[in-house]
Amino acid sequence: MSEETIRIMCPSLVCRKVLAVPVEARGKTVKCRACGTRIRIPESSAGAKPADNKPSAEKQAPPANAA
Ligand SMILES: [Zn+2]
Repeated sequence: MSEETIRIMCPSLVCRKVLAVPVEARGKTVKCRACGTRIRIPESSAGAKPADNKPSAEKQAPPANAA
């Protein structure tokens, strides 16, 4: 048996702690150990997160080269 864990970030903007909860906690609510915020663990956590908004510095506008 593989003891997998789900990593979820605390939704609290002042905490932002990444918590590792067991997969058994899917669909349940866990409590952040740091701030006590209740975090709901999504049932399907296959890591299929649409990352089309990643904070990358690759979207740099070209220099003044407009026609
Ligand atoms: Zn927290």
